[in-house]
Amino acid sequence: MGARNNGRVVDPDAGTKVNGASAGAVVEVRNLRKSFGRSDTEAPILNGIDLQIFAGQFVVLIGPSGSGKSTLLSILGLLEPPSSGDVLLNGQNVTQLSRRQLAHLRGRKLGYVFQSFNLLAGLSVAENVMLSGLLTGQSGRAQHQRAIELLDQFGLANKAKRVPAELSGGEQQRVAIARALFMKPEIILADEPTGNLDTRNGRNVIDALEKLNREGQTIILVTHDLSIAEKAPRLLSIRDGRIESDRNRVAGRSAELGVAERIGP
Ligand code: ADP
Ligand code: MG
Repeated sequence: MGARNNGRVVDPDAGTKVNGASAGAVVEVRNLRKSFGRSDTEAPILNGIDLQIFAGQFVVLIGPSGSGKSTLLSILGLLEPPSSGDVLLNGQNVTQLSRRQLAHLRGRKLGYVFQSFNLLAGLSVAENVMLSGLLTGQSGRAQHQRAIELLDQFGLANKAKRVPAELSGGEQQRVAIARALFMKPEIILADEPTGNLDTRNGRNVIDALEKLNREGQTIILVTHDLSIAEKAPRLLSIRDGRIESDRNRVAGRSAELGVAERIGP
């Protein structure tokens, strides 16, 4: 992926640099460190992560249990502040933003999918999808129509009036994906979205994410499912607080890149 490909400009934003951010990175972290608690003596969970993720990428993040995958995803998703280092979203350094400004960015630019689907049991499937609209007082026909369209994209339009408990786990997770897409986020962040699903339902959820990515959606997915990792277009592995490897599968071949020359435009 690059700013120019055979002389054609691929990314209209390429070349725009804000605050020295790398051109085109949707999300970037620099020298990111994270520890919890009063941990002068404890080893940090994340210990100097540098990472750029570009528009349209499907990044799969793997690592041993407890290695900090969810922590890193939460920091990339502006749900958790780093202990030190910078987080940039579309070139904007978010480190100094207020809680209110962060909440605004989360609502507009980021969509989250969790292992436990986190649907509201008392709302219909359609209402769950349009939840972010409902919360900001937008509950008109247009919102409902958008919810139905999103559900239709995942083959669930006929379940719009049901409540979540009437759906299978895989269906519920696809509702959660539709909900995450409602505000047209720049990035979908998914933390072990197949962790509570059987193989077939898990496959359906991954298929849905792959389809979205083919349509251009940027996705960051945490998993420990090796069958997903094997096929990942870009596979990041973290261990001992650092990025152990960053492998990009380019045009059918997989390139093992050193940490210093990670995939860029
Ligand atoms: P993973 O998702 O790779 O399994 P996590 O990011 O959830 O790992 O956790 C990494 C480490 O950080 C674990 O040792 C975990 O116990 C610790 N940790 C995560 N969140 C917190 C927190 N809020 N407070 C204290 N420790 C935490
Ligand atoms: Mg985790």
